[in-house]
Amino acid sequence: MKIIKEDKFTLKQHINLIFRGLKIFAAFPKSLILSKTVSVVFNSAIPFINIYFSAQILNELAGAKNQKRLIFLVLLTIGLNFLSIFIRSVIGRWAAYCDSATGLSMHKIYTDKFLAMDYADIENPEIQHQFSKIREHQTGMGFGLPRLLSTYDGLISGAIQLILSVVMAFSLFTLKVPAGSRFAYLDSPFAVIALILVLSCSVFIAPYLSVIGGKVWPKASNINNDANRAFGFYYFDMIRGSDRAKDIRIYDQKHLIDASTGISEEPEGIREWLGYVRYNARFNAFSTALSYLANGLIYLFVALKAFAGAFGIGGIVQYVGAITQFSGGLASILTNIGTLVNNNPFLDKVLTFLDIPNKKYQGTISVEKRDDNEYEIEFKNVSFKYPDTDTYALKNLNLKFNIGQRMAVVGMNGSGKTTMIKLLCRLYDPTEGIITLNGVDIRKYNYDEYMALFSVVFQDFKLLPFTLSQNVAASVNYDSEKVLQSLSKSGFDARLENMPKGIETYLYKDFEEDGVEISGGEAQKIALARALYKDAPFTVLDEPTAALDPIAEFEVYSKFNEIVGGKTAIYISHRLSSCRFCDDIAVFHEGELIQRGSHDTLIADERGKYHELWNAQAQYYQENKESNGYNP
Ligand code: ADP
Repeated sequence: MKIIKEDKFTLKQHINLIFRGLKIFAAFPKSLILSKTVSVVFNSAIPFINIYFSAQILNELAGAKNQKRLIFLVLLTIGLNFLSIFIRSVIGRWAAYCDSATGLSMHKIYTDKFLAMDYADIENPEIQHQFSKIREHQTGMGFGLPRLLSTYDGLISGAIQLILSVVMAFSLFTLKVPAGSRFAYLDSPFAVIALILVLSCSVFIAPYLSVIGGKVWPKASNINNDANRAFGFYYFDMIRGSDRAKDIRIYDQKHLIDASTGISEEPEGIREWLGYVRYNARFNAFSTALSYLANGLIYLFVALKAFAGAFGIGGIVQYVGAITQFSGGLASILTNIGTLVNNNPFLDKVLTFLDIPNKKYQGTISVEKRDDNEYEIEFKNVSFKYPDTDTYALKNLNLKFNIGQRMAVVGMNGSGKTTMIKLLCRLYDPTEGIITLNGVDIRKYNYDEYMALFSVVFQDFKLLPFTLSQNVAASVNYDSEKVLQSLSKSGFDARLENMPKGIETYLYKDFEEDGVEISGGEAQKIALARALYKDAPFTVLDEPTAALDPIAEFEVYSKFNEIVGGKTAIYISHRLSSCRFCDDIAVFHEGELIQRGSHDTLIADERGKYHELWNAQAQYYQENKESNGYNP
């Protein structure tokens, strides 16, 4: 059998990985691990009751045949069995409950990680790839954290089996064959050494072979990884949701998806995979055969010693049972150590993922709380490239927001408007230059406090399938009056009257059967209400109105402008007409701020981009002017 070599960690690294993994479980509620331990200890100890009492009963039957003692032994055995069934079911239920809680806690580790992760990392395909690999290994074969936890069971039960079986088998060596017997050699030290050698076959060599066979899994799991990931997770997640279901049906994209997943062909790497499965099976078969052979020899030794008169028939049951438990226990410990070693490459991936640092949370300075909202933000020579791209999405931006100012940012799609907002909200940090709040680099501020300054409604905002009130307040605790006021200001009040449970109505049906489906325009009003409820000093509307027509967008923007009162507000649009009410308009083009001024000043510059864009867009409105009465 050829032995497959694979990436090696040093012993220290192995131990370090296991301890770091266990530390994660140590942070789980204590009852989860306690229930597991109690259940495993109890289940491993139970077989010894029957081994011991069966031996006693047999000895009594073959020996003194005392009826009273026999009845006592039988009743005691039955009673203990019933008791153990009862205790086992109670502990089992507790452990099963805790087990499912452990499963949820394991999921929560990843949910928490994603919730806390820097936005730039969420958008990073490499990190998404890293996570889907972890999920694939975990779901497919339980590698990673679940495997670490299951080896804990194996190690504890192995240890209990070892201790109890040594106690129970001890007299096998102290009870001697009667003097003068032709089987006296069974008591010689050589016989004991031979027995230990045979035993080691079943407890060391057999598990070792099975561990070597298991070394193929890290390699096998890398086969066809991309296709597995694409089909098992990406495609599945993609087609399952309602986001794409309409288009898939209208354009009959089923065939396109089938063709891209390649499921009709022979999956790539399947032969290699089968080769690994065969390799593993060969080692396992050899390991099992070896342990059967070794056990057979041990049983022969015990039987011969009984035959020679060292102990009675009950002794055979007791020693054979104890030795079986001993070899099972030791094998379980060794196999689980091997499993830990084989699991470590997977665990390493999990820990590397969980260790991705949060750069955003490194700032410590508190943001000054100001009732007068005297906050001033400035972009100083800011340039930005998205990770792994060569082109600048923003180039040398210098821009200052004065308090209470309303600024419009206009420009064609792709001109860098949203990128500027992403930098402002620290979703990304500038590649060059700095952004300051009241003169201090925004990276130095406590991230959560800094984020509290902004209410942003993005074009691709998403609401949660929770209640309307929770969506508006972004919290389970809220001020109902303020929720109602915000919804009324954003123009949702008429629709609210038709909501079956008012602000307690669930949005969508993900979590509640009587949740309501809402239209794109209604969702947008809720998103605006959410921004109003937050009542932050800076409000940004980044084209959440893109689905509306230009006139409706103009109306939403100008109405919002009245609602926000004295706060700083930034309006973003690629439609110049929507922002013409603003005194301060910044024109972006190919990542640069190229013009700034009021509508009248900008339009007066006939060679400027604003003039060019205005005319290009106005043409469309001019044509429709008569039908819609709109004049930009
Ligand atoms: P706008 O908001 O003006 O439509 P954006 O700021 O969204 O423009 O985009 C500016 C440029 O950055 C575009 O060329 C766009 O393709 C690119 N871009 C936007 N988001 C990403 C991203 N996550 N990764 C790489 N490039 C991006």
